[in-house]
Amino acid sequence: MVSLPPSKVKGVTQRVHSPNRSRNDPLEEDVQAFLIDENQLHTFDDLTKVNPVTPATVLKCLQARYRLKVFYTHAGCTLVALNPFQPIPDLYSVDVMKEYHYATQPQEFKPHIFIVAEEAYRNVQGQLEPVNQSLVVSGESGAGKTWTSRCLMKYYATVAASAQAVSSQDAAGRIERRVLDSNPLMEAFGNACTLRNNNSSRFGKYIQLQLDRAQLLVGASVQTYLLEKTRVACQPANERNFHIFYQMMKGATDEQRTDWMMPQHQGFVWLPNCEKQIEEDGFLETTEAMAHLGIDAERQRQIFRILAGILHLGNVSFCSSTSESQPCDLDQHSEDFLQRAGELLGVPAEELCRCLRVRTLKAGKQNVLKPCSRAECGVRRDCLAKVVYGQLFEWLVTFINSCICAGQSKWRNFIGVLDVYGFECFQINNLEQLCINYANEKLQQHFVAHYLRAQQEEYVSEGLEWSFVKYQDNQSCLDLLEGSPISVFSLLNEESRLNRASDSTALRGRLEKELGGNDNICWDKFSKVPHFNVAHYAGKVSYQLEGMVEKNKDPVPPELIGLLQKSDNLLLHEIFSDKETEIPNSKGLSRVTVISKFKNSLENLMKLLLTTAPHYTRCIKPNSDCRPLTFKNREVILQLEACGIVETIHISAAGFPIRIPLKSFVQRYGPIGKCSASSRLDTDPDAEGADVLQQQVEKLLRVALQHNASRDERRSLVHCGKTKV
Ligand code: ATP
Ligand code: MG
Repeated sequence: MVSLPPSKVKGVTQRVHSPNRSRNDPLEEDVQAFLIDENQLHTFDDLTKVNPVTPATVLKCLQARYRLKVFYTHAGCTLVALNPFQPIPDLYSVDVMKEYHYATQPQEFKPHIFIVAEEAYRNVQGQLEPVNQSLVVSGESGAGKTWTSRCLMKYYATVAASAQAVSSQDAAGRIERRVLDSNPLMEAFGNACTLRNNNSSRFGKYIQLQLDRAQLLVGASVQTYLLEKTRVACQPANERNFHIFYQMMKGATDEQRTDWMMPQHQGFVWLPNCEKQIEEDGFLETTEAMAHLGIDAERQRQIFRILAGILHLGNVSFCSSTSESQPCDLDQHSEDFLQRAGELLGVPAEELCRCLRVRTLKAGKQNVLKPCSRAECGVRRDCLAKVVYGQLFEWLVTFINSCICAGQSKWRNFIGVLDVYGFECFQINNLEQLCINYANEKLQQHFVAHYLRAQQEEYVSEGLEWSFVKYQDNQSCLDLLEGSPISVFSLLNEESRLNRASDSTALRGRLEKELGGNDNICWDKFSKVPHFNVAHYAGKVSYQLEGMVEKNKDPVPPELIGLLQKSDNLLLHEIFSDKETEIPNSKGLSRVTVISKFKNSLENLMKLLLTTAPHYTRCIKPNSDCRPLTFKNREVILQLEACGIVETIHISAAGFPIRIPLKSFVQRYGPIGKCSASSRLDTDPDAEGADVLQQQVEKLLRVALQHNASRDERRSLVHCGKTKV
């Protein structure tokens, strides 16, 4: 719990998104209360200076700026970045980078992502000792997080490149080049075209840019989070598989096509929407990046044959079996695809076929073989594809790290860039959204704690006597999700560790019985679908329980692992060599679940973030059609709420929403004192020294408030600090 001044705390403790809140439409709110000329709205470089601060006024400012192609605006310690959805010439050029980098006071320049970058770069030095920095980039899908992260990386690769590196002829060998090359490679394997974004990242990432004593970039390391590997075997309607498959289809040479057994017009079930031709020209870029990073031709061949094997596997389907004791037959055209999948994955096709159709069970010390149903065969095929793709991605990340990470002795500090999926609320939400939204709750908590701490520090440094009261953060939602001893996660994990089919209706009952007392969970009375609703800080989300436990188990049949271990594709063999192949007995499954793994990696991330000084950038998607320079009020306001800007505004309103430097105050309001007949004041904005200015402000305030009926009340709302009023 962090505390805040009491004056307006009531407004803050009220949750922005209480599930029962009757929401006034902020767009209908009266904006007349604006104390400024509407024509001046675009001039607000910092939203905390808008008066009054309401969602509607903030929205109007952003809209006015967007119209004038001003895409960045400060909101206190956060930078708001609006996506232009079109390249803006010269906004990110090396010259602009240098302008910000060499400026004495970059903060005085127009708001830009480079201000954040430069501030972090300068802060690494620290006042007493070096401080690692984190740049947290958030926002919904398509808002511009990955774009922004790339910009930040390019900035450091430019301003922190060693002189030696710049003059070096061997561009590909330079560390900055390699760090930047990791982007297209990871995006090829981890991004896909979705309904929301043609280049949507289907994983989260935290990249630490390593700096040496001289603040030069000497390496980097990447940590990734929760790749959406289900996409490899199941693409949502009108969405696509990962880019790399399309890049292969489009960019392969004839020789490669033969090697991958992929003739020009071969259709693949797992490669829908080929005609869209989006983001698939990157094959050359991807293979070049691979080569720069040291993935040689033979390794590349192993990688692409694995990927081609996955595609062929997707064309294998099964018929229903005639009897329970007989395995299902392959579908008419599947035989060829199975043969090829086996060959590409380096395993005997007959053995692959058996592993897909027959399950091994443990009965006491004996292994018993049981034919799978048609549906089960399909699940096993998908499972094989997912585990192979997921592990290949992990291998790739480990490889990238091995060639961009500087040795321990070479680097001293880092600047971390966090690009994680934003809050998600779809028609149907399941385990993926639960994990993603949990991550957002954690980040929001981190943000609020940091923001409030920064505010408190300012009060202290301003010498303000102020008694702090408790501020209600999102702890109760986090308790609901991850608290001990009982929480949504603990109940889901418990259920997932039992070796039995899960019953979602019974699970719903259990959640209600155990957690019904928490205000952040509720159920729709008349819904027949087993579900639970969570009131997140960014809005209410309804999660479907059907299939959630199974996803959390993420089971991989051990026979499949055993098969892959025998692969004569050296890479596949290497990737799976240390994996568990024991058949689980009836007592239960291994303790690792998707939730437990994710929670663990997130906890490590939060610990790391806490040791760094954070900088927040909130990306906003001005319209959902990704149309250039189009600003839709309703869509923006929802994001302002969901990404916590409104929350930030509420917090700042609970403190001092307006903070004017003493000198500006005297300059602006001095004439009031001079005009006042009752008490002539000698206010001089050029007077040097904080003491003198402070006295002048106090006098001004006395004059300004003396004729005011409710002056006592008003007086309590104005305080004069050491540098600001
Ligand atoms: P996701 O969560 O789906 O990964 P994201 O927030 O990472 O989404 P991006 O992929 O960064 O979104 O951005 C989506 C698209 O918006 C980009 O492909 C690019 O076309 C455009 N875009 C984003 N930021 C900018 C910018 N500053 N200037 C020009 N175009 C931009
Ligand atoms: Mg992205």
